[in-house]
Amino acid sequence: MKYYSTNGQAPIATLEKAVVKGLAEDKGLYMPERIKVLPQEFFDNIENLSFQEIAYTVADAFFGEDVDAESLKQIVYDTLSFDCPCVRVTDNIYSLELFHGPTLAFKDVGARFMARLLQYFLKKEGKGQVNVLVATSGDTGSAVANGFLGVDGIHVYVLYPKGKVSPIQECQFTTLGQNITAVEVDGVFDDCQALVKNAFMDTELNHHMALTSANSINVARFLPQSFYYFYAYAQMKKLGLADQLVVCVPSGNFGNICSALFGKKMGLPIKHFIAANNANDIFFKYLQTGKYQPKPSVQTIANAMDVGDPSNFARIYDLYGKSHAAICADISGATYTDTQIAETIREVKAQTGYICDPHGACGYRALAEGLQAGEVGVFLETAHPAKFKDTVDRIWGDDIAIPAKLQAFMKGTKQSVPMTKDFATFKNYLMKE
Ligand SMILES: *Cc1c(COP(=O)(O)O)cnc(C)c1O
Repeated sequence: MKYYSTNGQAPIATLEKAVVKGLAEDKGLYMPERIKVLPQEFFDNIENLSFQEIAYTVADAFFGEDVDAESLKQIVYDTLSFDCPCVRVTDNIYSLELFHGPTLAFKDVGARFMARLLQYFLKKEGKGQVNVLVATSGDTGSAVANGFLGVDGIHVYVLYPKGKVSPIQECQFTTLGQNITAVEVDGVFDDCQALVKNAFMDTELNHHMALTSANSINVARFLPQSFYYFYAYAQMKKLGLADQLVVCVPSGNFGNICSALFGKKMGLPIKHFIAANNANDIFFKYLQTGKYQPKPSVQTIANAMDVGDPSNFARIYDLYGKSHAAICADISGATYTDTQIAETIREVKAQTGYICDPHGACGYRALAEGLQAGEVGVFLETAHPAKFKDTVDRIWGDDIAIPAKLQAFMKGTKQSVPMTKDFATFKNYLMKE
């Protein structure tokens, strides 16, 4: 499979190049040239397949031409060492729990897949050290750092905005040591993302060190996210609830929902999608007006969605032939203030006993408000609520238990490199590494 750039000015790339480079030369995002439609028999029988079997079929459609079957199967099965169950919250609203992986957020799926695919290419080519640069608004950093921890030949730099990620998120990538370096940027998430993008564009720096990105722009991270949409469909079909399925994705950089839309193009029978935003409503406004107007992000209690210029918008726009009408036909939007998010967490807990995290709460609410008669909704519970313990405890006045997996991270010592948001300073630091 070959990959083209959404900006249309860069040469066509192989999978390996797209994975190693992350971003195309023209700053566009790589897109697979073809999206294979999966055979009807697959969907007819999907409820009888395991998560790994479903995922391998989907992975084969994207990566099968470039990775031998045995290795690809191994990568998929290793990646999905945990379940993504659909859990009933109300009669017509289910939660797709994506927090059962090592860092308790959906980004584990893409990060674990990418680490294994990158390692596969490095081994195959006998390449030297590769440096992964990743900007995080909270959960990407921990998923990528843990996905790559101890992997030979790869060094990871995690850039995160100082004081703007939760203490629990922070310890998941600042306490690891080994091949992981945390860089604490005096700025917001968009500044971190800008430093990473500038680094890839800098010829001198790229001469000095081999750089790659593990942000959701990387095809090896975002395409595997489609696995769990197929699996969610399979689980709902088994319950006899998949005929009019609406999937709601709490969205920030729009990588997650973009993977769902790829799934739909592959034939996944989902009726409609909702992108739920916090107060960062750039996509919501786009749906309303047809105009995409990025603006600086604002800080919210659903901090992993505090994105003012969602990278993957370019992919969605390209996927739908730049047609606003086509996008609106498949996706609707929602946007919630912190007050509404808090209210939703409290109400869902009181009415159903289910504890949403602040991101999942946006997803739940958009379904509760948006489902039509006969429709069943699945929202993505994108992280475990204990990852946002301070916020969640404050909202319902209790003390949410921290899972053992998360506690283990909190015992380590924080180590990070302080950094300004100025690219020259960051470059200077990397040039000395
Ligand atoms: C990253 C993240 C999101 C947003 O996902 P995108 O792919 O950037 O849209 C939502 N919720 C949580 C918990 C996240 O970590």
